[in-house]
Amino acid sequence: MNERDSEQVAQTFSERGYTLTPTEQEADAILINTCSVRDQAEQKALGKMGMMGKYREQRDHVVYGFMGCMAQSRGSELFDRIPHLDLVVGTQKYHRVFDYVDSILNRRLETRMDEVGAEMTTTRVEDEVINTNNGKVISARMVDTEEEVGSQNTIRDHVPRENQQATAFVSIMQGCNMRCSFCIVPDTRGKERGRPISDIVDEVKALVQKGVKEVTLLGQIVNLYGRTEFPKVDGKSPFVQLLEAVHEIEGLHRIRFTSPHPIGYRDDLVEAFTYLPKLCSHIHFPMQSGSDRMLKLMRRPYKNEKFLAICDKMKAARPDLAITTDIIVGFPGETEQDFQDTVDCMKHVGFDNSFIFRYSKRKDTPAAEMEDQLDEKTKEERNQYLLKVQEELTFAKNAKFLGTIQQVLCEGPSKSNKSRLSGRTSQNKIVIFDGDADRMTGELIDIKIEDSTGYTLYGTPEIY
Ligand code: SF4
Repeated sequence: MNERDSEQVAQTFSERGYTLTPTEQEADAILINTCSVRDQAEQKALGKMGMMGKYREQRDHVVYGFMGCMAQSRGSELFDRIPHLDLVVGTQKYHRVFDYVDSILNRRLETRMDEVGAEMTTTRVEDEVINTNNGKVISARMVDTEEEVGSQNTIRDHVPRENQQATAFVSIMQGCNMRCSFCIVPDTRGKERGRPISDIVDEVKALVQKGVKEVTLLGQIVNLYGRTEFPKVDGKSPFVQLLEAVHEIEGLHRIRFTSPHPIGYRDDLVEAFTYLPKLCSHIHFPMQSGSDRMLKLMRRPYKNEKFLAICDKMKAARPDLAITTDIIVGFPGETEQDFQDTVDCMKHVGFDNSFIFRYSKRKDTPAAEMEDQLDEKTKEERNQYLLKVQEELTFAKNAKFLGTIQQVLCEGPSKSNKSRLSGRTSQNKIVIFDGDADRMTGELIDIKIEDSTGYTLYGTPEIY
């Protein structure tokens, strides 16, 4: 989701004459889009921004800004942490970033900031005083973290690519109305707000015209899309109505979505996998824990039985379905039995892959205040154990692909080896193969799977 928001901001700059620089040293404006899901991500962003302050020694007009969740949750306190910071822009204001940066930059380039005490004149910000010291820029201190009605509709543009683009992310909603006890997202992203189906369809059509064959629809709880804004039609949720509308787009071959929640994962969505063949045979379905006691403490309003029942129904609807998940290990109060329940559920579902997060406290969340916080050693041991369990599951799952022919959407040169090509199966398995990038990127190709490292598959195109 952050990647998609960053792309939107980048596009607003490109449209108005700016270019993306290959390195931060060359940039006139340096923006970091931040994540608050884990403390580590915040520390990394703060560290990086701190290090980059040195560029202003050579070029005193450089503008520094934080966007996204950490900007939203910490606001102007970030100026105390990073003295050279100019701009803090929250999650409902991505479309305003260009104006803020451009106004600071122009002002600096025009005056070179040699007027001590010069002031910004915008009215859209809380704090608009430029701090200077002996004529040297310190920071502009602009903050905008207000809510804005309709901000979800502003994440809709894409950066044109030089090369063929096979896949694209499409943001269909913003925010979350849940209150998981470990999560800061409802505070940073606001309430659920969906975009109209027609706008989303127009965005996908435009992507398809540029050659995109696969879209991933994004939302914090994607299956709850539109539930507060749009009515059910013929018993179908707004999300299923959206899937049907996107499915009709000619030239689009694949549809994915992430991430759904067990709440609101109803039979209409399960059934959609039986009659919408463009829906890929993969869901990323966060389980978080296999223990009902933990789910309750996490304020996840479902029981494990329900999670497993949905997985079973989905596998019946799509027998070749791959399921991946998120798991939090070492949540406060997690006993050996709770942990074992998670291990059992992983094996029961047979996840194709899991993102396993060792619990870490997030400021301003109920879980951070809970008693029975686990020691780091126990968390690490359990984390390692789950990684091992998942590795065995993944290796066994992927071994079944050996000798089969899979339809792969070629995404272009592999990131780890530019001389080879990379693509994904419908189950979201990465496949590496040889071929001509110019000719094959963006094409659906039958590949014979011949090898596997466990996580990655290797093969040869059948006829191309
Ligand atoms: S469902 Fe829970 S974990 Fe997901 S974004 Fe909402 S509050 Fe956070």
